[in-house]
Amino acid sequence: TLPVVAIVGRPNVGKSTLFNRVAGKRIAIVEDKPGVTRDRIYSRGDWSGREFHLIDTGGLEFGQQDEVIDHIRHQADLAIEEADVIVFAVDGREGMTTTDQEVARLLHRSNKPVVLAVNKLDHVKHYEEAYEFYRLGFEEVFPLSSLHGTGTGDLLDAIVAHF
Ligand code: GDP
Ligand code: MG
Repeated sequence: TLPVVAIVGRPNVGKSTLFNRVAGKRIAIVEDKPGVTRDRIYSRGDWSGREFHLIDTGGLEFGQQDEVIDHIRHQADLAIEEADVIVFAVDGREGMTTTDQEVARLLHRSNKPVVLAVNKLDHVKHYEEAYEFYRLGFEEVFPLSSLHGTGTGDLLDAIVAHF
């Protein structure tokens, strides 16, 4: 069976865009605003000859703040259960939020490898925005742009190194 890679994070950070980029096709629905997307979407990816299953998480992405947090928590729990490697996606433009810190806490409790994708850094000159996210306590932090596909190669190298 193939290793499983799951992308988790709060709404609108670009999880589905990253998923489509890695899957090499448009499967996940990318929303301009947080909204309801299908709960979990599966595809296959490969990198350097290594194949894997890829999971995009989404679902309820609006409503009361605590409802949203509960939902993200549930998605993170499922990812922790199923995944061999977790991609934790955050928004490098918006910066760190309390929800990111909450998700980080959950992920630290698991023994799964986590690679942190600091997304929406569309230009290399903005890569320094990724540094503050080291405070979340993960060793592997990757500035990238899912929109342009820059930086995703380094992320994928780190992912497949955990298989
Ligand atoms: P999700 O809710 O985490 O799945 O986020 P989506 O993939 O639906 O993306 C939310 C919004 O962010 C959409 O408008 C995307 O086009 C935009 N977005 C995603 N990745 C990037 C990126 O690397 N750079 C920029 N500038 N926008 C992005
Ligand atoms: Mg999505």
